[in-house]
Amino acid sequence: MTQTLRPLIAANWKMHGDLSWASKPTDFDRVYPAAERQHLDVLICPPATILASLADGGVLKGGQDCHAAVSGAHTGDMSSEMLKDAGASYVIVGHSERRAGGDTCADVNAKAEAVTRAGLVPIICVGETEDQRDAGNAQAVVSKQITDSVPDIADYVIAYEPVWAIGTGKTATPEDVDEMHNAIRAQVGAGVRLLYGGSVKPANAKDLLSLANVNGALIGGAGLEMDSLADIARAAPKA
Ligand code: PEP
Repeated sequence: MTQTLRPLIAANWKMHGDLSWASKPTDFDRVYPAAERQHLDVLICPPATILASLADGGVLKGGQDCHAAVSGAHTGDMSSEMLKDAGASYVIVGHSERRAGGDTCADVNAKAEAVTRAGLVPIICVGETEDQRDAGNAQAVVSKQITDSVPDIADYVIAYEPVWAIGTGKTATPEDVDEMHNAIRAQVGAGVRLLYGGSVKPANAKDLLSLANVNGALIGGAGLEMDSLADIARAAPKA
C-alpha cells in the first residue's frame, strides 16, 4: 500500500566545505524560502567540523556517519550523541563509501540502532554494484542488505543508491528506480520514507521524485550548490 509521505531532500556534502560554507543554508533559504516549502523537509549533512556552525535557513542538519558507541577510546570517530549535540537530527549510515571502507551490514545495523538510541533518525543506505545488477541480482542484494542493516526500530529512512550511479553521472532509469522502490516498499511497509540517490540533478529530479514510492532524494555533487539543491527540492511533489 502506498501512503503520502513528506518528501525529504537530503544533501550529503561528503568531505567538502570549510567554515565559510556555514552560511549556505541562508543562501538556500534566499533562493527557496521556507514559506514556499512547507510540504517538504530539506536536510544538509555537512562535514562534522561545520555542523555546529551551520546557519539555520529553515533546513535540518545531519551527520554523515557515526560510531555505534556513546563514547570511548575510538580515535577519529564520533557518536550520534555528539552529532545531536552539534545540531543533527538525522545521521546517514551505510553509505557505499563507508561500506567500501569496511562497514558490514552488521556494523550498519549497530550504527542505525545507535542513531535511534540518541533520539535521531538514521538514513540507512543500500544499493547494488554494477556487477551485481548485470548478473540480475540487484533486488536480492538490496533486499538482503535491508534485512541485515535495519535493526528493530520504528523510525528510519532508506536511501537506495546503486553504487554504479554515485558520483558517476550515470542515473538509474525511472523504470529501474520504480521497480526497486516498489520492491523495497513491499519489504519495509508503508510508513518508511524511501530516498533515491545516484547522480540526482535538477534535470532528472522531477522524473525520479514523481515516482509513487520515491519520497525524496539523497544528493551528493548537486547538493553542494544551493541553486541546484533548490531546483531539485522544487521538483518534489506537493502532495
Ligand atoms: C551520494 O554520495 O550519496 C550521491 C548520491 O552522490 P551523487 O549525487 O554525487 O551521485
